[in-house]
Amino acid sequence: MFKNIYLLALILALSSCSLLTTREQMKEEKKSERPQEEVVEKDEDSEWLLTIQPQVITIRPGEVSLLNIPGDFFKEAKVKCADKEIPFFLRDHRLVAFVSETYFSTLKPYSCTYLYKNHKIKIAEVEVLEKTFPSERIRVDKKRVFLSKKNQARADREREIKYAAYANSSERPFFYDAFELPIRSKVTSIYGSRRVFNKKKKTQHLGTDYRAAVGVPIKSANRGKVALSRDFFYTGHTVIIDHGLGIFTTYGHLSERLVEEGEIVPTGAIIGKAGSTGRSTAPHLHWGVTVNGLAVEGDSLIRASKRMPK
Ligand SMILES: [Zn+2]
Repeated sequence: MFKNIYLLALILALSSCSLLTTREQMKEEKKSERPQEEVVEKDEDSEWLLTIQPQVITIRPGEVSLLNIPGDFFKEAKVKCADKEIPFFLRDHRLVAFVSETYFSTLKPYSCTYLYKNHKIKIAEVEVLEKTFPSERIRVDKKRVFLSKKNQARADREREIKYAAYANSSERPFFYDAFELPIRSKVTSIYGSRRVFNKKKKTQHLGTDYRAAVGVPIKSANRGKVALSRDFFYTGHTVIIDHGLGIFTTYGHLSERLVEEGEIVPTGAIIGKAGSTGRSTAPHLHWGVTVNGLAVEGDSLIRASKRMPK
């Protein structure tokens, strides 16, 4: 009986394989029938799209750049950069989007395309420049470097919670103005430092640390909605704000959290107080910024956002 089921499954699998092959072949044949250049239908309202000169922008690993393209674009359209869809908004007859580059960039150039109905227009060419990062050595409680099974499970679970939040950003921006620093204080560890914990474990610091005594007020970098306000293993008491458009800011190692999940906070709202909770050697603020799922340097988001049209 079981043998027959296996045999049946095998036959089905083989036949679907051959079906696929025929479908692939048909697709290939259809492709070759198409003209080389994609034909864009010229309707009265969108002919101007064809005159767009792609904006040339540069970006470095772990940074953000602004796309700012004049024109009356449709909000129902899609924008893709290197085949990844990125959120955008329209302001002052311009298309505005934040392009982010991973810390682990391959430095390959790419382009951004505007897709609407049968239009496919190149709106930007992105050049990725090199960047070097310093190293630092850190000693912390070994329990927070080499994790017990229980702590590892907790850290893994918390990473999933954070990723789920990052995947659920508001499509429209909550903010109107440029991003601001959450605290004015000495930077004690920059974004991208290569860290060696207790001479053994190597990681990258994908945030910026600011010196801050316990109890110092920490401000929201921009208007947004509190996505998470929890006690995490690595970052201790943490607030994560969704600013919409795939942009999140994280405030870690707090001694106190003063906002609730789901709350809308204005720019500069005191969202918590500095501390040294989680994996921390001394009281400080860890400020993290995530744009389109990539952890980037906060300063570059501030600089890019200052160039938004008013
Ligand atoms: Zn940090």
